[in-house]
Amino acid sequence: MRILLLGGTTEARRLAGLAAGDHTVITSLAGRTTDPLRPAGELRIGGFGGVDGLAGYLRDADIDVVVDATHPFAATMSGHAVLACAAVGVPLLVVRRPGWTAGPGDAWHRVASLDAAAALLPRLGRRVFLTTGRQGIAAFAGLDECRFLARSVEPPTGVTPRNLEVLLDRGPFTVDGERKLLTRHRADVLVTKDSGGPAAKLVAARELGVPVLMVDRPPAPAAPAVPTADDAVIWLRTRAR
Ligand code: NAP
Repeated sequence: MRILLLGGTTEARRLAGLAAGDHTVITSLAGRTTDPLRPAGELRIGGFGGVDGLAGYLRDADIDVVVDATHPFAATMSGHAVLACAAVGVPLLVVRRPGWTAGPGDAWHRVASLDAAAALLPRLGRRVFLTTGRQGIAAFAGLDECRFLARSVEPPTGVTPRNLEVLLDRGPFTVDGERKLLTRHRADVLVTKDSGGPAAKLVAARELGVPVLMVDRPPAPAAPAVPTADDAVIWLRTRAR
């Protein structure tokens, strides 16, 4: 089968590696990262030009199946995939790892958006470990009373908070490393999106008694979904028969 794999996540890269032996896998990246890790199979980079652009691509490239393994917060791309696949009659599968759940010892505050997180933040703490990614930093720009340590893969663009230290790094991260970061910055609050997956920073925050401001996911796309790349491989196998 010819599979368009909407990527930009570790799970998408893993799926490309698992499926490229049996199928033609074309991974699509938005082009936000200057030096992306290369997946197995083919790679295309850049937007499609909205729903119509994606529908046209699916026809022109003779795609049999689309797998949306984008980040849970890439809601625009996921929404376009639902509409374009419906328009062209191509099946769509979503790969989405489960979100995080608070356990004993966690002090989490859930909010619906980055703006809501920025509104609540000064009441929770002033020394902030901000892990919402490069595009998530601008929402906190007005908070002069807070001091931010912001971690992202690429440097932030656009407006940023006045008191900002940027740490350029890409996971995976360890609990020990996250504990050291929180301690060095004397963080009294951690801000994160509910991305799911490895949660070293959440474990470290729990151990240190640091509260967490957790931004909820946007609604899931209206399509069948599986939690892992392995489950997606099984789904693809049944489709290929
Ligand atoms: P988004 O807001 O949902 O998408 C905005 C536009 O970017 C889309 O309309 C599309 O342009 C283009 N685009 C997004 N993902 C694409 C892909 N995989 N291939 C081709 N074009 C894509 O997306 P985003 O939140 O900026 O995320 C961009 C990429 O970064 C995604 O691949 C995502 O998996 C990855 N990522 C996002 C986050 C996050 O927190 N949002 C975190 C880690 C990784 P057109 O309309 O022109 O087609």
